[in-house]
Amino acid sequence: MNMYAVISDIHANLEALGAVLADADMAGADRLVCLGDLVGYGPDPNRCVSLVREAADAVVAGNHDLAAVGRLDISWFNDTARRAIRWTAARLEPDISSYIASLPLERRIGDTLMVHGSPRNPLEEYLLDGYAARSSFGSDDFHLCLVGHSHRPLVFMLAANGEVTMMEPGVDTLLELRDSHRYIVNAGSVGQPRDRNPAAAYCLYDPEGQVIAFRRTAYAVERTQEKMRAAGLPRSLIDRLGDGR
Ligand code: ZN
Repeated sequence: MNMYAVISDIHANLEALGAVLADADMAGADRLVCLGDLVGYGPDPNRCVSLVREAADAVVAGNHDLAAVGRLDISWFNDTARRAIRWTAARLEPDISSYIASLPLERRIGDTLMVHGSPRNPLEEYLLDGYAARSSFGSDDFHLCLVGHSHRPLVFMLAANGEVTMMEPGVDTLLELRDSHRYIVNAGSVGQPRDRNPAAAYCLYDPEGQVIAFRRTAYAVERTQEKMRAAGLPRSLIDRLGDGR
């Protein structure tokens, strides 16, 4: 058996991460890959990084990760994101910081590519339409590329005739991968979903069966929000977890 749990954009939300790891375990996942943004926004950066570091087979860096360890300029971040990064940077334990700083921008397992943003710009590009996805298909020869960053579960498919289609997978969607097509799949966000569904999002990928299952897991949102309040993190970041926007 070989089944990957694909997680992304945890953003230091320990309750969401715990719920997803338990759900993936129950569903039979025996591998774990993480597409970045382990920290930033949320109240438990050190524990989230420790958990992923222990459990994951492959991890790539996200923009918030590198920002938190001073490897990415935060002048382009919006005000709340910047405040959360400063809060995070002041609390990261030294070994956690050096682990984050050591993360690669991309990993490959077979013909599957893993990046945070896009193959063209692994840290910062958002893939939100077919036009952007088309350039990404052209920049590498992956069959499947797993991405995060936009906090929305999304599928881009490139057909043999060059047509790119975009799909927003609903809860419990099963995507069967075909040899004739190429795919970019966004797993959604574990710790800060932005598709109006506050439940933690992730995927299960079965490489032998060539199937990806999109999953949602409810978690104790109020508990995370309470910790954020106690930590003095920005109000808008606390509120958005409640309705997933
Ligand atoms: Zn993110």
